[in-house]
Amino acid sequence: MSQVQCGSCGRQVPPDATQCPYCGAAQSATPQSYAVPHRGVTVLVLGILGLVVCFAFGIAAWIMGNRDLSEMDAGRMDRSGSGMTQGGRICGMVSVGLAVLGLVVGIILMALGMVLQTGS
Ligand SMILES: [Zn+2]
Repeated sequence: MSQVQCGSCGRQVPPDATQCPYCGAAQSATPQSYAVPHRGVTVLVLGILGLVVCFAFGIAAWIMGNRDLSEMDAGRMDRSGSGMTQGGRICGMVSVGLAVLGLVVGIILMALGMVLQTGS
């Protein structure tokens, strides 16, 4: 197992140490405390806005969700919001997917219209 960083002095200490051998600070079971609160509500709201208002919100939710989930994986962000963050990210993905689908269908219909016009 790799070493963890002392929360007080930042030096590498053994993961099973209860005290830092360098500065004597007590080491908790979790190597890092969650300094950053999650933004699950924001990501979820943006994802839903992406679905009902404009897919631009969905892009924001997708990007924010990706970044926050990787922050949670790294242990730098409160994990309790991972469900909301994932939900918001998925809403964002779906809204972007629908926008792309709508664009593709629009182009096909437009092309079809031109073909029918020139063919007659
Ligand atoms: Zn230390």
